[in-house]
Amino acid sequence: MTRNAFIPNQASIIKIKAEAENISTFTLSFQDKNVQDHYTFEPGQYNMLSLPGIGEAAISISSSPHQRDALDHTIRLAGRVTTAVSNLKVGDSIGVRGPYGRPWPVKELEGTDVAVIVGGTGCACVKPAINILTDHMTDFKSATVLYGSKVAQELLFADEYSYWQDQGVNLHLTVDEGRSLDWPFHVGVVTTLFDKLKKASPDSRALISGPDIMMRFCVIDLLKRGWSRKNIFLSLERRMDCAIKMCGHCQLGPVYVCQDGPVFCYDEIEHVFGAVA
Ligand SMILES: Cc1cc2nc3c(=O)[nH]c(=O)nc-3n(C[C@H](O)[C@H](O)[C@H](O)COP(=O)(O)OP(=O)(O)OC[C@H]3O[C@@H](n4cnc5c(N)ncnc54)[C@H](O)[C@@H]3O)c2cc1C
Repeated sequence: MTRNAFIPNQASIIKIKAEAENISTFTLSFQDKNVQDHYTFEPGQYNMLSLPGIGEAAISISSSPHQRDALDHTIRLAGRVTTAVSNLKVGDSIGVRGPYGRPWPVKELEGTDVAVIVGGTGCACVKPAINILTDHMTDFKSATVLYGSKVAQELLFADEYSYWQDQGVNLHLTVDEGRSLDWPFHVGVVTTLFDKLKKASPDSRALISGPDIMMRFCVIDLLKRGWSRKNIFLSLERRMDCAIKMCGHCQLGPVYVCQDGPVFCYDEIEHVFGAVA
C-alpha cells in the first residue's frame, strides 16, 4: 500500500541553539534509524514540521547536505506552530515530512562566479548551498556572500563566518541600523554592497534569499549592472499548507511555490513576482 503523503515521520530534538532573539536552530534526528539513514535533501529544500493538535509549518533545512546523522531547521517565532516549537526541549518529538521543493541549481553553478545575496532569516534556506560552496570551492570560479540584516544581532550563523572565509568565500556583512552600535562593518541595505560583486559576465550566477521587497531591489540592481535574467535565482516564501500542490495556498499565477519552487530562475517568474524593471 502507498504511504499517505501527509503522515510525518517522528524526529527527536537533539540540540537547540539560540541564533538571535526569537530565532533558534533545532537539530533533529529521525526516531526510526532506517528513515534517518536514507534521508537525503538538496540545498534550498524544506520540510513540513508538525505538532499534533497545533499544525504544520514549512521550514527550510539549514544544515549541510553532507551531514547524514541529523538535520537542522532554523526557526523564527512567527505564529502557532513556531511558537509551540519554541517551547520544546531537547528530547521532545516533532513530526517531519519532506524534503519538498525545487532546490538551488548547485550543479549548474560549477565553473561560475557565484554571488549569494541574503537578507535576514533568508540565510537559513541558502546556508546548505554555502556549505556546498565551502566544501568544494575548487569547483567554482569564485564565491561571494553579501549578507544584510536589520541589526547585527540578527545575523545568523555568525560562528561559521570565519570558516567560510578560510575556505575562500568573499563575505561582506551589512546592517540597516549600525551607527549606534559598535558595528565595524558596512551600514546600509544589502544592495549598497553590490560594488563588491565581480563585473557581470556570462559566468555570473546569483542566489537571492530574503524578504520579497529586498529580492525585488536586488534584481533591479543586478539587471542594471548587466546580469542575465537566466542567471538570477530566487527562493520565495508563500503561505503553504500541503506542500504537494493540492491546497493551492501558495499559487502564484501559474506556479505553485511548494513544488515548482521555492527556488525559481528569475526569468520564469518575472511576470508574476512583480514587475521590477
Ligand atoms: C518554503 C518555505 C521555507 C520556509 N523556511 C522557513 C525557515 O527556515 N524558518 C522560519 O522561521 N520560517 C520559514 N518559513 C516561514 C514559515 O513557514 C511561516 O512563518 C509559517 O507561517 C510559520 O508557521 P506558524 O504556524 O508558526 O505561524 P502562523 O500561525 O501561520 O503565522 C505566521 C504569520 O502569518 C500570519 N498569518 C496567519 N494566517 C494567515 C493567513 N491566512 N494569511 C496571511 N497571513 C497569515 C500571522 O499573523 C503571522 O504573522 C518558510 C516558508 C516557506 C514557504
